[in-house]
Amino acid sequence: MCGIVGIVDAGGVSFQLYYALYALQHRGQESAGLSTFDGKTLYKHKGQGLVAEVFDEEILCSLKGSVGVGHVRYPTTGAKIPENVQPFNFRYAGRHLAIIHNGNLVNTPALRQEYEQRGQIFCTTTDTEVIANIIADELRVSNSMEDAVLLCMRRLQGSYSVVIMLNDTLYAFRDPMGIKPLCIGKTEQGYVVASESVAVDALGGTFVRDIRPGELVTLNESGFSSTQIAVASHTAHCIFEYVYFARADSVMDGILVYDVRQSIGQKLYESDRLKPDIVCPVPDSGTAYAAGYAVRSGCPFLEGLMKNRYMGRTFIMPTQRQREQAVRIKLNPIRGNLKDRKVVLVDDSIVRGTTSRRIVEMIREAGADEVHVRVGSPPIIAPCYLGVDMPTRTELIASGKEEEAVRDSIAATSLTYISLEDLVEAIGIDASNLCTGCLTGHYPVEIPGEKSCRRAVTYVDGTYQSNLKRFGTEQETS
Ligand code: AMP
Repeated sequence: MCGIVGIVDAGGVSFQLYYALYALQHRGQESAGLSTFDGKTLYKHKGQGLVAEVFDEEILCSLKGSVGVGHVRYPTTGAKIPENVQPFNFRYAGRHLAIIHNGNLVNTPALRQEYEQRGQIFCTTTDTEVIANIIADELRVSNSMEDAVLLCMRRLQGSYSVVIMLNDTLYAFRDPMGIKPLCIGKTEQGYVVASESVAVDALGGTFVRDIRPGELVTLNESGFSSTQIAVASHTAHCIFEYVYFARADSVMDGILVYDVRQSIGQKLYESDRLKPDIVCPVPDSGTAYAAGYAVRSGCPFLEGLMKNRYMGRTFIMPTQRQREQAVRIKLNPIRGNLKDRKVVLVDDSIVRGTTSRRIVEMIREAGADEVHVRVGSPPIIAPCYLGVDMPTRTELIASGKEEEAVRDSIAATSLTYISLEDLVEAIGIDASNLCTGCLTGHYPVEIPGEKSCRRAVTYVDGTYQSNLKRFGTEQETS
């Protein structure tokens, strides 16, 4: 999972890219990077760590130009090594190219092998570099970005929201199923494309629209044009974006994430109408859910846990022991709110169960009488191959276990998950247009050894090569 942003703005882009990456920091904390272009030179800076750790004012002032791209990384493929930090920058046939990607390909090894056999060399271990190679290869032949993206959409299997800076033009595209998000906004003197609308908000910009699945958008300072490269029979928007990954204040594929989470909270109450003394969120991911539960049940919303905001997500701790330790540093009970109370504790999801087990224990130690856990997603039973860093089946607490066994394992008084039907209803997108792989074990792409519910994709092709573009000079606008 990663956060991506591209900006073209006459007023300069490095500080705007930095602010946008700050707004997208929740999508990746392992590394951050920016590339900009000033008409002659490609400037770049990237490193491992948080946005605030990687950049300072001097660095941002040195990144000149009115077009650029930025990336925050949460590694799903490729090792955590400096070479894998994006953007990837290439000097190629007299052009400057920088690429950023959010998503995960499932056919990387085969593609990489094919390109290596053709003499291509690779500097990283990521799927993103494979995309860059396909693009560069096709540009060499046709000089048409439409053709290059068409070739990508024909060859890449998996999820990909991609932004490419080619000299002073930005190109943004989304896989035909729109698995990962990508949207367009208007800035004061240009345009922005970003993983989530909160990045547009951070720039004081105006949200324009989501990039459509299978669409290529070409942007410069005066406007953008659109080419529909491919159309899938159904989309496969990642359901986990709505449950956990996206910020609650983002609008994604036309839906405010906060509304979805609040509605899930309401449905959680309706499923068994339990009336607690307090409705307590697991901060911050459970807040919107708990708000919905409290509103619908009429029971008071009261915080029982305080979060240390200066700690990263527990998930990025590599060992189980470190994860357990991290939960304790991250969350502390507010004892006065919990003592002798019947508590409904609401969280977005249970993955390994480490967080819930520790939190239930904490709340009991603080004197609560009963701890009823309510979860905003159905049991996570299968891994994600499409860009969310989920553990293997053996590490997933709900995989192969009955609900009662999970309840027992986290020592809750009761445990209820939202049903898939209720979750889908809260999102408001038909289940056939969502990727529910982690909840059902059925994936929208073919994955060896897994069940798939593949979508048919139609390519709107054959028209581009006759319509050659000279990159960096001619632009269509709309
Ligand atoms: P655990 O059950 O201890 O593995 O952690 C579950 C909590 O981690 C959830 O309540 C989420 O807030 C958060 N979480 C869920 N999925 C992820 C993920 N893929 N990466 C990071 N954090 C996650």
